[in-house]
Amino acid sequence: MTIFNLRQAKLRSGEQLREEVEIELEPFVLGGQEYVPEPNVVTAQLSITKAVTGTVYELSFRASVSGPCFRCLRETSVEESVHVREYQATNPGGDPELVSDYVHDDHLDLSAWARDAFALQLPAKILHAPDCAGLCPTCGKDLNEEPHTHDELAADSRWAALDELRGQL
Ligand SMILES: [Zn+2]
Ligand SMILES: [Zn+2]
Repeated sequence: MTIFNLRQAKLRSGEQLREEVEIELEPFVLGGQEYVPEPNVVTAQLSITKAVTGTVYELSFRASVSGPCFRCLRETSVEESVHVREYQATNPGGDPELVSDYVHDDHLDLSAWARDAFALQLPAKILHAPDCAGLCPTCGKDLNEEPHTHDELAADSRWAALDELRGQL
């Protein structure tokens, strides 16, 4: 977990701090599958801007994850750029809009913030290719490698046999 100690920033109103930070990214679950950030430590640009009324936090980084393709389960990597902003009011007065979920007392939870932002940036379904054919629902073979259908042949011959039976009755 990467936590940034805000006390070390010692910003006064109107001042800005820009810093390169190393953030540890934890694995996350999407559509029931686990995705692992690679590498699991990313270099991010953090900027903290203090005003009288509050503080603006900005974070930018690029990261990739690896995990199974949503349709055919083969190992897939996706890379995304993330740029996010959070605001924490000096006196939020109980307004949740004015409070950042990632600022706790003097600490900024960079790992949680980066992970959530990255997960939101990723497509809802990670595919190894946009036109992935997936797995055959009947036999489970990879339809990208072995395109096939369990066509009506089997079904047809069954019906034919039934028809024949009916004819005999
Ligand atoms: Zn696929
Ligand atoms: Zn099949």
